[in-house]
Amino acid sequence: MNTDQIYDVVIIGGGVVGCATLFHLTNNGYNCLMLEKNKHLVAEASAGNSGMLHTGFDAPLGSLELHCIQQCQVHIFDILNKLDLPYNRIGATMVAWDSAQMSKLPIITQHSNIANVSEINQLSLSQLYQREPNLSRNATGAIHIPGETIVDPWLTPIVMAEHARIRGAQICINTMVNNVEFNDSNRTWNVFTNKGNVGSKLVINCSGLYGDIIEKIAGYSSFKIKPRKGQYLIFNKTAKDVISSSILPVPTEITKGVIVFKSVYDNVIIGPTAEETEDRHASPTINSGITTRLWNHGKKTVPSLSKHDIVHMYTGVRPATENKDYQIIARPDRNWLTVGGIRSTGLSGCIGIADHVLAQVKYKFGIEPSKSSWETIKKVNFNFTKNGTVMFPHGIEHLITHPLTFTGVTRKTISQSNL
Ligand SMILES: Cc1cc2nc3c(=O)[nH]c(=O)nc-3n(C[C@H](O)[C@H](O)[C@H](O)COP(=O)(O)OP(=O)(O)OC[C@H]3O[C@@H](n4cnc5c(N)ncnc54)[C@H](O)[C@@H]3O)c2cc1C
Repeated sequence: MNTDQIYDVVIIGGGVVGCATLFHLTNNGYNCLMLEKNKHLVAEASAGNSGMLHTGFDAPLGSLELHCIQQCQVHIFDILNKLDLPYNRIGATMVAWDSAQMSKLPIITQHSNIANVSEINQLSLSQLYQREPNLSRNATGAIHIPGETIVDPWLTPIVMAEHARIRGAQICINTMVNNVEFNDSNRTWNVFTNKGNVGSKLVINCSGLYGDIIEKIAGYSSFKIKPRKGQYLIFNKTAKDVISSSILPVPTEITKGVIVFKSVYDNVIIGPTAEETEDRHASPTINSGITTRLWNHGKKTVPSLSKHDIVHMYTGVRPATENKDYQIIARPDRNWLTVGGIRSTGLSGCIGIADHVLAQVKYKFGIEPSKSSWETIKKVNFNFTKNGTVMFPHGIEHLITHPLTFTGVTRKTISQSNL
């Protein structure tokens, strides 16, 4: 962190939203600094997700969330290909198990058609069992969403952050933002951290589960974080052939429900739950009642799962708010941009969010980049080590903080209490 210079942009928070924003703004010539309070990037909400790149087929019509997911779908595959990051378009199958659920499938299909985001096909029962022969025989109907994709939820943001660092962005870990102060005379922010203070023309609040706290120190209070916990069971890779797509339940008014899905590393996973909590931290353990509930759901959906071993469990916490939609709020009078309440689709929307942010920076704030933009995205080399870290050739080492990546690449399990 260079305390003598005024950055174009300071980003508070190194989760998937902060990393994608850093990547995109740096590529567009902005001189950026990202501040992260933890010892490791991607260690909070972004370390506890399902790793799914949703198409947005069920996102609320007219929402900013749907817009960002759609934009992300347009650009993300080209970026993943150029960065040589793993992904698998395995598709999703939404299965109805009774007549009430069955009656919702046409509504979901119609919603998706209006949103015009994704192909969605009704399946006959014989088509369903041809695709998913291990599924319980009690299904009453299904739809197939071929565009639903799985990615590495940790490597994707980490490589974006390292790509930005190679292009001159600065990233400071172990750096907690404690206060901010706007100077009206030169229209810059002074950002106070445990490592000293730094100046910036614009501050972007990407602090996830602490979004409302950072808003408060800047003098704003437009939303309150209402943490929502999700818990998972991860199976041994021996289970990899029990499903060929992500098996979604029919959502209710309250929750999207528990999914049986696969990681890009072929671990089958059951989860997540959706539990209101006061706690902004992911607990390192999952309680036995939840384990039983998830286990029962898995066995009821795909009975042959019971032959396979659970190798790990994990918990994530969503930065939900009292609002359904993302809270992206520009305050051009004081050069402050809030990117908060990115509840349950931050990975799926990441590049769309970053692109929306770029448009705000350019046109709402009128801040020009101080460097020239880069035309190409280049592959960043890295190596997985035996210690559960990834080494980049420019000397940076990252601990793998996402249990799906860690379990997938090391065959060990990770203890969230060590993060
Ligand atoms: C159970 C679960 C399942 C999910 N499944 C999916 C999925 O399949 N697909 C999908 O697209 N999305 C999914 N999500 C949602 C997705 O994970 C979130 O939308 C996303 O992680 C939010 O990212 P973020 O960067 O806003 O927040 P975070 O990842 O929480 O990052 C914010 C960062 O800000 C830092 N910070 C906070 N305060 C300060 C401070 N004062 N100073 C410095 N740094 C600070 C934090 O330490 C943190 O690293 C899921 C989430 C959960 C929990």
